Amino acid sequence: MPGARVTQAQVTIPTVVRAPKEEFTEALTGETLGEVRRQGKYLLFPFHSGRLMVVHAMLTGRFQYCDPGKKRRARTAFVLALDNAMELRYFDQRLMGKVYLVREEGELSAAVPRWSEMGPDVMSRELTEELFVQRLKKYRGQIKSVLTKEQCVAGIGNAYADEVLWEAGIHPYRKRVELSDEALGGLYRAVRAVMEWATPIVRQRMEADGLPDGHYRDHLRVHRKGGEACPRCGSRISEITAGQRITNFCRRCQGSP
Ligand SMILES: [Zn+2]
Repeated sequence: MPGARVTQAQVTIPTVVRAPKEEFTEALTGETLGEVRRQGKYLLFPFHSGRLMVVHAMLTGRFQYCDPGKKRRARTAFVLALDNAMELRYFDQRLMGKVYLVREEGELSAAVPRWSEMGPDVMSRELTEELFVQRLKKYRGQIKSVLTKEQCVAGIGNAYADEVLWEAGIHPYRKRVELSDEALGGLYRAVRAVMEWATPIVRQRMEADGLPDGHYRDHLRVHRKGGEACPRCGSRISEITAGQRITNFCRRCQGSP
């Protein structure tokens, strides 16, 4: 998409877009896209003028990059028609996602709620093992809650937290204060290992599908695999549901809380 010009921006479900419909349409029509990037769970779409569109897709927000003739998905919230004869669309089954319009990089904190509270992205270069350990040590509570806290490190959700903790051999309900610096360092290496393993798998599957729709989670080793055999030791994977969140882990590999 970089270099493509927006020939027409259109808002079809205004509640998702946190800017007046006319402002969104006027601001983006005629803009040229730069390189899309990610920070934590946000996707940033920078334009040549310095303006940005920031999207938090929450649970069900998905993008569709397709021929304009293709039938629109239900709950398509906005459409950017591009001069490369393609359309970038966003649809969101539960309409929980949020789309922000930001005038320039320096205004991200003012325009996106809680942006300034966000910790470093979990895959960023600046986040060294030392800094990761330091940041985790600011929080008490169960290690899974700490790991998924956006203010601590940004980008780890419920599913990947399970994967990372399984990789590191740490029980999700273990108290952070009970973990040594060495164990927290091991967790850092597990985060990187899991993301570096999983990202190419998801990327490849999305490319193959053309129209990404699902969650691409069947490659995961413990999350949503309750009752199945642990790929490491063969024990049955445990499952605990609290609130609306499922936590899976292996009692044998990950010890006790
Ligand atoms: Zn196991």
